[in-house]
Amino acid sequence: MAREKQALVLKGTAASPGIAGGPVYHLEAREFPLPTYQVSPERVPEEIAAFHRALRETEGKLETIKKRVAREVGADKAAIFAAHQLVLQDPALVDEVEKRIRQGTNGARAIAAVVSELEEMLAQLEDEYLRERAADIRDVGDRILRNFLGVAGPALADLEELVVVFARDLSPSETAQLRPDRVLAFATVTGGRTSHAAIIARSLEIPAVVGLGEAMERQGLSRAKEAIVDGTRGEVILDPTPADWAEYRERKEKYRGFHRRLVSLRELPAQTPDGHRVELLANIGSPADLKGVEKVNADGIGLFRTEFLYMDRNSLPTEEEQFLAYREVAEKLASRPVVIRTLDIGGDKELPYLGLAQEGNPFLGWRAIRYCLDRTDVFKVQLAAILRASAYGTIRLMFPMIASVEEVRQARAVLAEVRAELDRRGEAYDDRLQVGVMIETPGAALTADILAREVDFFSIGTNDLVQYSLAVDRENERVSHLFETFHPGVLRLIKGIIAAGHAAGIPVAMCGEMAGEVRAIPLLLGLGLDELSMSAPAVPLVKQVIRSLSWRDARQMANHALGLNTAGEIRAYMDRCLENLNLG
Ligand code: PEP
Ligand code: MG
Repeated sequence: MAREKQALVLKGTAASPGIAGGPVYHLEAREFPLPTYQVSPERVPEEIAAFHRALRETEGKLETIKKRVAREVGADKAAIFAAHQLVLQDPALVDEVEKRIRQGTNGARAIAAVVSELEEMLAQLEDEYLRERAADIRDVGDRILRNFLGVAGPALADLEELVVVFARDLSPSETAQLRPDRVLAFATVTGGRTSHAAIIARSLEIPAVVGLGEAMERQGLSRAKEAIVDGTRGEVILDPTPADWAEYRERKEKYRGFHRRLVSLRELPAQTPDGHRVELLANIGSPADLKGVEKVNADGIGLFRTEFLYMDRNSLPTEEEQFLAYREVAEKLASRPVVIRTLDIGGDKELPYLGLAQEGNPFLGWRAIRYCLDRTDVFKVQLAAILRASAYGTIRLMFPMIASVEEVRQARAVLAEVRAELDRRGEAYDDRLQVGVMIETPGAALTADILAREVDFFSIGTNDLVQYSLAVDRENERVSHLFETFHPGVLRLIKGIIAAGHAAGIPVAMCGEMAGEVRAIPLLLGLGLDELSMSAPAVPLVKQVIRSLSWRDARQMANHALGLNTAGEIRAYMDRCLENLNLG
């Protein structure tokens, strides 16, 4: 159907599949006018009472949000709201606002002034942790002010109606508040397919387009009233025309039917018609993600990103807290494997309370295994929790960001110390716990034969492998067009890793986003990967591709693709292969 001229279509990165449309909610639209009246001395008690009412109301709302997020998204993601509740009792805020009101300033202006002074003061401090609290103060201050003035709130967690969220970017803590029953879809100016907002959107099954760039900022961010977000095509239609809405309904219905057919594959194995079986596993960030895993009946968890248990809180999780989370997942999956990756902090994933210094190149800096090998006190607590949980299911341990064999040896030495400690404590654990590494640096990929002798399995992290081998920041939308999973160099690295793993007799998995990308599946299957781990909702379609394609054909396709010269040629070839499969 032809689209009328006036609807503007923006192109971005297809971050989470599906299509949804509705009224736009602008996350950035936080400004509201402040009243100018002065408070006369006799009205001071009344104004202070109104301020305290706003504090109580904020406290109540934060409590509701905290419980809802804990229930629907996970306790780890709810911790940020407990921290915000503490701000409400801070005398630096409460006493100072009261003082200003006594001096005649109206409540709203007093709140706004004190919050902005506190924010500014914190932002200038040396201490990284305290500096990060500036954002919390602003967030809470904004809530108090809105409650004081009785204006509707912009926080994602309090959304009352179904909306399409437009934002410049979404931080991991903002993404944690996204409620699939309120947020129809989201669109952001920044970010790429592998930014964490995109990863979480896929696991929540919220259609999303990210990295819309300046076009969205100019055109859509502040103006559009309604929008259609097509997370499969990577398209956002601003203020759609009736014809757009009609086409939208058609596409949505088609997508639904397709989805229903895929769900019916739940009980069937990911096996090619000529009998080659691949394990399809899911990536998770917390036990709350298990619902999605069960829905698609994944063969296990191929990547448990444990750093999310460390985020949105004020201190490190204890051994017991971690043990309970890991045990819950291990018990639910029972005989199905759960690959727990040790803390992968740094890069884009910050932990303000660790007070990590700002780095010039965070992705090349003190992150993941490097941090853990320096801070063995933190590392050992996690290893003890994982080992203890291994007595309750089929856990495998995985180290991230390995660049050299020495790191593997050091990590294994720390693991041996923790095992000895647990023996002394009389704690049970799985004696034959498998230990693997992520292959996500070119250094590891090119020495995979050496690494393979020291570990039980490999898992290829393409998000970082692409970033590091092509020198393209995975978070920077300016260069996102260069983040090219199908670059011949990347494919050669992947081929080499698989060959090295298999030569040493160990299985090779992939848990980067490429493993869930439909057009990559014939290629990955043909290259001989044993396991693919992806966001749970991607499992059915990947299974459908595998069930429609013989292993023989897949191997030929992979061979052909590896002989091509450019990523563009490879993509186009893979698309043709998929078209011939007639997936519906
Ligand atoms: C990867 O780098 O591909 C990966 C799976 O890890 P993360 O996205 O958490 O860095
Ligand atoms: Mg990684």
